[in-house]
Amino acid sequence: MAKRDYYDVLGVSKSASDAEIKSAFRKLAKKYHPDLNKEPDAAEKFKEVQEAYEVLSDEGKRKTYDQFGHAAFDQNMGGGGGNSYGQYGGFNTSGFGFEDIDLGDILSGMFGGGFGGRSKRSRNEKIKGKDVLYKMELSFKDAVFGATKDITMDLTESCSTCDGKGGFNEKTCETCHGSGRIIREQSSLFGVFQSQTVCPDCGGTGKSYERKCTDCKSTGFVKKRKTISITIPAGVDTGSQIRIKEKGEAGINGGPNGDIYVEFEVREDELFKRDGNDLYLVLPITITDAVLGTEKDISTLDGDIVLTIPSGSQNNDRLRIKGRGVPILNSSKRGDLYILLNVVMPTKLDRKQRKLFEELNETTLDDNDKFKKFKKYFKK
Ligand SMILES: [Zn+2]
Ligand SMILES: [Zn+2]
Repeated sequence: MAKRDYYDVLGVSKSASDAEIKSAFRKLAKKYHPDLNKEPDAAEKFKEVQEAYEVLSDEGKRKTYDQFGHAAFDQNMGGGGGNSYGQYGGFNTSGFGFEDIDLGDILSGMFGGGFGGRSKRSRNEKIKGKDVLYKMELSFKDAVFGATKDITMDLTESCSTCDGKGGFNEKTCETCHGSGRIIREQSSLFGVFQSQTVCPDCGGTGKSYERKCTDCKSTGFVKKRKTISITIPAGVDTGSQIRIKEKGEAGINGGPNGDIYVEFEVREDELFKRDGNDLYLVLPITITDAVLGTEKDISTLDGDIVLTIPSGSQNNDRLRIKGRGVPILNSSKRGDLYILLNVVMPTKLDRKQRKLFEELNETTLDDNDKFKKFKKYFKK
């Protein structure tokens, strides 16, 4: 069966505001919640509503949906080449079943700020910690050749005083008797009904402690300043990221730490410019160097080279020095270094130089092909 348009599902217009979408969702979620609606297709409808809401309540996903429709969220399209939607392929829209969303949450409105259902789903489930992003400025040379750097950040880690438990002398939570949930009677427009909510005293763990940990204020986590040494591979550029696995924020219930992503911003060099893996250097030379040719010692980013400037070189001529550019990431190869010749005309001549130019001027210098077309315009 073809999927219904998400806007139709929620009964809102394409230009509906976030508040309208949220309100429509609340109404329909109440209408179809299987605890309230005993129609056989209620659960199905509830899921449909939920799915539509998950996409339309998220600015990024909504945009993608507006642009590509359901195809953007089709989970089968990730593999097999030809994924024309790029990064948008494979959004997961089936992460929640209705059992994850509490009717109590819908009615009390606490389900407003994004998907809060997560903590309930995962009483003792191991959850990976949060990823963190660290932005780092790099010198041109460090980016080209790589470097080792220390980064210092404040990261959460499991509290060592209480072993991450938040307290001492574990016991069963008295409020929920260890179930992690409490049954509440609520009255509403639909009459009185019972609903389950997460136990507010133990946060759903079913456990409590005789003595709370003051070091972590019972959260089980503390912030610690950490210094981590990172190896920057040769060849990174502005916007490149490296991932340092499982060094980020502490995981929950013994889950692994999140990752640290380090993103680089490369400072410009005074002389060298970079284009991908090639380096460019604009080299000023004199008119006689260009005409007669010469050899020059050049300091590149990694050592000196002798550059041969052939006689008859022209302004903007490009000399290629193979393999002296930027190392190519994950490869033993390097790009090339290009020297762009900038022939600088003298602006001040001493008496001797002027005389030499005057003597030169009596010879024929315009027999180059380039002058031919223009010959007729020249008076002499
Ligand atoms: Zn503690
Ligand atoms: Zn409890």
